[in-house]
Amino acid sequence: MAESEHSPTGNVGKTTVLFPYGCNDNSCGYCNVPIGNKSYMMMAGVDRPADGFLGITPNDYKSLLDRGWRRSGNIIYKPDMRGSCCQEYTIRLKSSTFKANSKQRKAVNAWSNYILGIDYKREQARKYPITRQEKREKRLASFDIVGKVHEPELDFLKAKNPLEPAHKFRVVLENGIFTEEKYALFEHYQKQVHNDVATESGFKRFLCANPFKPPYSVDSKGRKIGAYHQCYYLNDRLIAMAVLDLLPDCVSGVYFMYHTDFSQWSFGKLSAIREIALAEELGYEYYYMGYYIHSCPKMRYKCEYQPAQVLDPECYDWHTFDNAFRSILDSRPYYSPSLERILTAEGSSTSMALLDTYYVKKQQDSKFAAYETVFTTDMSGVVKLEDIEPVISDTRILVGSRLAVAEMLLHWEDMDINVPVNVKHKIAEVIATIGIELASRVIVCLALGK
Ligand SMILES: [Zn+2]
Repeated sequence: MAESEHSPTGNVGKTTVLFPYGCNDNSCGYCNVPIGNKSYMMMAGVDRPADGFLGITPNDYKSLLDRGWRRSGNIIYKPDMRGSCCQEYTIRLKSSTFKANSKQRKAVNAWSNYILGIDYKREQARKYPITRQEKREKRLASFDIVGKVHEPELDFLKAKNPLEPAHKFRVVLENGIFTEEKYALFEHYQKQVHNDVATESGFKRFLCANPFKPPYSVDSKGRKIGAYHQCYYLNDRLIAMAVLDLLPDCVSGVYFMYHTDFSQWSFGKLSAIREIALAEELGYEYYYMGYYIHSCPKMRYKCEYQPAQVLDPECYDWHTFDNAFRSILDSRPYYSPSLERILTAEGSSTSMALLDTYYVKKQQDSKFAAYETVFTTDMSGVVKLEDIEPVISDTRILVGSRLAVAEMLLHWEDMDINVPVNVKHKIAEVIATIGIELASRVIVCLALGK
């Protein structure tokens, strides 16, 4: 590397720094195939004694969500939808257009009735009677989710009712920090719902750590940005908690847990509706509710939140996520409208045969070989090597604490981009998975990884 390019990472400033890890396979949590879940992973939050915290900006992370990425603590990952046993489709909905169905409305009303209690409701009705006309209008009006989720909350109750509600219910949105109380709830949830043993370090790593820098901020419209815990308290006891990313223009649900004492209240529904209401109330345009897994019956409930959109896993445009889309998934687990359009237009027997192979799951028991990469495995939705070659030399990299551009690396010109062990190939993988546009804004650090 040229001497003149030495500069401390202080200059990294607000720029995203990514630490590529590479292709990885894991046991699938949806269908339990031992190594069926394949993805490309990077660290996006690293605390280094000399440089402080190197992380990702919420804005860049939002761009990654829109290319099929998600995060687990500080690790970000992009599933290989062609290569995995279960396909993880990115879905979202516009909070202002959401229409609660009857089951969802019923869950919200039932919880509200439980919290307020019959005496309180009766007194409320006596103090604030509504006319027959108002009743009719209320019935015909659309279900106001923001008003409804706040209805039983202590801070939103009408002060003039002399009665106390049956229970005191509060929901608090706070920074995603660790507390013993949160961990106790997580431990309970893991054991009772997932039959799994929790560890404190796992909880901190998975649900408290986040890769965002700065950790908490507000955007130009004054909206909160960062990783938050939304805590549900019943009579001052923590009974449920959502882990949420508040990002430019969206609320992204990361995780949700509840105490099984309250299983009967459909907390899955209550939390999703509350998160949509949060987006709507604070002005985030979209709610991202995590991956939709068509092959996993337990995850199909997510399609009940409508109208929703689904991300094309190849060209990353959004499509209506309706029954028609889902019925295609019954016969083609991997479906990309854009890929189908391109290959059908080409019409040759080779391209049609290729289309067929995309619909067939790849061999599920073949582990990623030692140097398999997003290119050698033909991962879904990655930029082609030939499109990366013209721009790769300009990629900004971090070597130790020094910033440089890739072409300053020793022997860069002679390095074959097609050879998986080469640094050039590893940098190409980053560009392939995050896209050329974002790659021009980030810094890549190869200090971690396989
Ligand atoms: Zn699976």
